[in-house]
Amino acid sequence: MNIKEKIASLREELNQHNYNYYVLDNATISDYEFDIKLKKLEKLEEENPEFNDPNSPTQRVGGQITKNFETITHKNRMYSLDNSYSKEDLLDWEKRIQKILGTDEIEYTCELKYDGASINLTYENGEFLRAVTRGDGVQGDEVTTNIRTIKSIPLVIKEDFVSNFEMRGEIILPLDGFNKMNEERVANGEEPYRNPRNTASGSLKLQDSAEVAKRPLDCLLYQVVTEERKYDTHYGSLEAARKAGFKVPDTIALAPSIAKVLEFVNYWDEKRHDLPYETDGVVIKVNSLQQQEELGYTSKFPRWAIAYKFKAEQVTTVLNEITYQVGRTGAITPVANLEPVHLAGTIVKRASLHNADQIEKIDVRVGDTVYVEKGGEIIPKIIAVDLTKRSADSQPTQYATHCPECGTELIRKEGDAKHYCPNEFGCAPQITGKIQHFISRKAMDIDGLGAETVDLLYKEGLIKNYADLYELKVEQIVPLERMAEKSAQNMIEGIEKSKEIPFEKVLFALGIRFVGETVAKKLAKHFKSIDNLLAADFETLVGVDEIGDKIAESVISFAKDPKSLALVDRLKQYGVQLEISQEAQENQSDKLQGKIFVVSGVFHQVSRNELKKLIEDNGGKVSSSISKKTNFIVAGDNMGPSKLTKAQDLGVPIISEEEFITMIS
Ligand code: AMP
Ligand code: ZN
Repeated sequence: MNIKEKIASLREELNQHNYNYYVLDNATISDYEFDIKLKKLEKLEEENPEFNDPNSPTQRVGGQITKNFETITHKNRMYSLDNSYSKEDLLDWEKRIQKILGTDEIEYTCELKYDGASINLTYENGEFLRAVTRGDGVQGDEVTTNIRTIKSIPLVIKEDFVSNFEMRGEIILPLDGFNKMNEERVANGEEPYRNPRNTASGSLKLQDSAEVAKRPLDCLLYQVVTEERKYDTHYGSLEAARKAGFKVPDTIALAPSIAKVLEFVNYWDEKRHDLPYETDGVVIKVNSLQQQEELGYTSKFPRWAIAYKFKAEQVTTVLNEITYQVGRTGAITPVANLEPVHLAGTIVKRASLHNADQIEKIDVRVGDTVYVEKGGEIIPKIIAVDLTKRSADSQPTQYATHCPECGTELIRKEGDAKHYCPNEFGCAPQITGKIQHFISRKAMDIDGLGAETVDLLYKEGLIKNYADLYELKVEQIVPLERMAEKSAQNMIEGIEKSKEIPFEKVLFALGIRFVGETVAKKLAKHFKSIDNLLAADFETLVGVDEIGDKIAESVISFAKDPKSLALVDRLKQYGVQLEISQEAQENQSDKLQGKIFVVSGVFHQVSRNELKKLIEDNGGKVSSSISKKTNFIVAGDNMGPSKLTKAQDLGVPIISEEEFITMIS
């Protein structure tokens, strides 16, 4: 054996032992022998640096320091999951997807919902390349060096599997390991960590990978994303992934019906307390990958999957005080300040009370003993009051009448659930909140500027609105606390670069009430420039697809407000994109105006998503199910047979991908 072969053989052997121990939980070598072999490999690698490989088992101990985690755009978006809480919810979901697929024959995969931090692992030619956190689903942070230290993640794929793929999973801290970490912390006089999930997710962003290597992190995998069409089912792809070396929990199961899904749910609702890690529900997925593709995605979730949340844990505690928070739009949120209490592994001190109606509805008062529940949200909720514990002199809650930040009298418009502070341009949290929204990732995405810096710049009187950002000079920033020349420069560069951000994002960044990301896209596409949008009257606005009264009114009140208009004018002067670019214009047309399309099957020239975008860019609408209103079906290979029958019954024309492309060109 030459050196190269020796190294390769040792690596393979050590990988196999790692797999046996960390994935199969079945040690095949003593720790001592493992260490000897690892040392031997280390020595060989040291002496022959030409064979170095970041995916060698010697690299798992960490040691590299990451100062800044790079932002990476996901190749395939990481969606979140729709939630369900009852049998009825699941049956509704089943009905919806049966309708879209046009068949009752749907098989499901049931998996536990592992409670940790989601991760996307990219493999190329069977080797681990990169790990990125979910982030906002579109972009995440690259944490490759840290992830490499997690021993149950294969760095080289064992068997014949797809070769280029993304593996999605959850980084978790098993309860045992978590408790041990905490015992050590307490012994060292440190505060124990609150819960496994946050600790797992915090571990991913530690700068020192050697520190990460010490933590007993694990990774449970739940989805293979690949363009190689090797597997027909989700279950099949997971089984293959397990064989290839990934830790796919063997709790996953197939279910031929929702009734069987419910059996799985009930079983685990009970048994989950015996699991070595935390789970907060079950994830149900359509098993056929072809059906998954037909179902596609909403703007937030896959239609082919749904989470079922186990009933939340409840505790009682005393409500000490109600305070009020002011958001960037001026919306007031009442917050319950509670006597600290343990709940589902965390200590809870605050809970949201939503709005005045909610307070009235549950008639919650200071001094009450209240039931607190933790659902999916980070902030727990108050569910009800224990009236038997209420004191005789208790008084109903008087809702705040004035803004806690600026003292302005609060208003509440008819039909609104929330009270508002109308002092838009003079109320600190509204001012900074708007700027923070403006710079955020999904808006102007300004690098080098964070929420705290915005607070600081505002406090120092350097900015009073988002337009002021474009007047900032390096010399003004450098003297500020914790600001170096370099970071000031980065900030200014980030601001400068935001002038290239496309109009739809700028429109979202403006922070017009009710104009969220999706609405901004719609309005940008329809009106093409801020001038057109702000000149539109109510009828024109509500005439736009999916734009309702509330949005229209809000746009109009923005357009009538001189202060808002002045800001827009300034942005224009600075060169911010306030109309859609020439290029975007050229790719858009009204050719399909008013036409409703259903897309079905597998395509060759463009992907399914590109096809949908083409339809929308040309003024058409994509619908998920065939009805009398459908104008065309664009059919690829393997269009569902039931869809075909339905289309023929209703006489909806079926066109090919090529015919569609001719139609728009
Ligand atoms: P949510 O954050 O509540 O929208 O739920 C979506 C998240 O659930 C995903 O980003 C995953 O991190 C996580 N998750 C945990 N277990 C699974 C699973 N078996 N399948 C899919 N997602 C899962
Ligand atoms: Zn105020």
